[in-house]
Amino acid sequence: MTEGLVLDDPSLLVERCLIGGRFVGDPVEPVVDPATGRTIARVPRLGAEAATAAVEQAQAAFPAWAARTAKERATVLRAWFEQIRAHRADLALILTSEQGKPLAEALGEIDYAAAFVEYYAEEAKRVAGETLASHRADARILVTREPIGVIGAITPWNFPAAMITRKVAPALAVGCTALVKPAPETPLTALALGELAVRAGLPPGVLNIVTGDAAAIGAVMTGHPAVRVVSFTGSTEVGRRLMAQAAPTVKRVALELGGNAPFIVFDDADLDAAVEGAIAAKFRNMGQTCVCANRLYVQDAVHDAFASRLATAIESLQVGPGTEPGVAQGPLINARALAKVEAHVADAVAGGATVALGGRRHPRGGTFYAPTLLIGATPTMRIAREETFGPVAALFRFTDEEEVIAQANASETGLAAYVYTRDLGRAFRVSEALEYGMVGLNTGLISTELAPFGGVKQSGHSREGSHHGLEDYCTLKYVLVAGL
Ligand code: NAD
Repeated sequence: MTEGLVLDDPSLLVERCLIGGRFVGDPVEPVVDPATGRTIARVPRLGAEAATAAVEQAQAAFPAWAARTAKERATVLRAWFEQIRAHRADLALILTSEQGKPLAEALGEIDYAAAFVEYYAEEAKRVAGETLASHRADARILVTREPIGVIGAITPWNFPAAMITRKVAPALAVGCTALVKPAPETPLTALALGELAVRAGLPPGVLNIVTGDAAAIGAVMTGHPAVRVVSFTGSTEVGRRLMAQAAPTVKRVALELGGNAPFIVFDDADLDAAVEGAIAAKFRNMGQTCVCANRLYVQDAVHDAFASRLATAIESLQVGPGTEPGVAQGPLINARALAKVEAHVADAVAGGATVALGGRRHPRGGTFYAPTLLIGATPTMRIAREETFGPVAALFRFTDEEEVIAQANASETGLAAYVYTRDLGRAFRVSEALEYGMVGLNTGLISTELAPFGGVKQSGHSREGSHHGLEDYCTLKYVLVAGL
């Protein structure tokens, strides 16, 4: 059953769903290690019936949970945070085994995921309302923030822990209850987090986790009248569908969707810092992040020097199973992801790009792909227009600021962008002109629980992290207190 997965606490390998405080369902659906192709565990294949039961459990748990004081909820969240931190090594191993990222990155993700729980445990105590100037001398306008109710969360496989806590922690902190549907590729991290939430003392029904038929579970979330928010992180295509499905019940839909990040290097940039940032923004998680640098625009004067330094850095990236010491690049999540990367590279080469490094599958086999550097990419190539989601750095040469801003903005999505320059005026001009929800200035790493993460255009409109991350789960109530 648990082939190859040796945990300090084997009971964290949970193969059942969490509904109403009980672990239920038969483990039938295999969870595969992308590095080996081996089944590491099985989880239930549940559908509409179980999702409906979970929503009802969440609905039943809501009044008592919402009635607790913020401090009481914060104490339980804090205990969950401590549990996650105490089991970070096991959680990271589970994560790497089902997702593929190097163990060091998995540990980083567990800490990042835990940070949202810690942050919202603290922030729950600072949810505030207001008293506004009144239109009547005998009345006062009172505005309060209330928990919206039951929330549905649907998450992707690329950050199996953080994408869950980024939604669930703020929701629970304000008094909502939740049903989570994790990605089918990575349910084990989600279920382990559920087990730790139970150990932390989260009351039954406050957090429910259901694995199985995505469309059926999604239909319950978008259609059930008790669910007040559907919070989704994943592809733009599925986000669009969920938004349409939620229209008949006029549900709030919070979307964190795909990106196609530009990474702009001006000729006055610190090139070593830009190379370091490009490696972080491009190759972290094997290029499978929504904020992944997809188009690297480099100004004429530094183009060749940047290309050669980047090639040296890429060559040093060790490829192998994420559990192997020193590995910086694991396998891609599945054969479909590999096929997309191959198609994008083939399309770029057919369009005139040159392969400076890689450009093929890695000798390790399976879904391993060689870290790749392409020179001479152009705007009509698929790699310019679509999210590649793989370890391929495509270099576009540019001449002036206006031209690169126009090219960077020529995308239907607008999640993250990166700019390297030492000119303060240019830094402000360009970051203001970029139609993106987030800009990294002289850095390739922007994610933190302390800042609002989210996009514009077809990258969605939600914000997760910081105090802004509470808003999706709150509703404003205005009370006119009259006759004073
Ligand atoms: P995906 O859209 O294929 O799947 C995401 C989730 O939606 C999974 O849990 C899946 O099972 C579920 N799903 C699929 N079809 C569904 C349906 N009909 N109804 C309900 N649920 C359904 O995306 P993915 O391949 O898992 O993740 C990669 C994508 O996520 C990329 O586009 C990436 O950019 C994006 N992403 C965005 C952010 C962000 O914060 N903006 C963060 C991480 C990933």
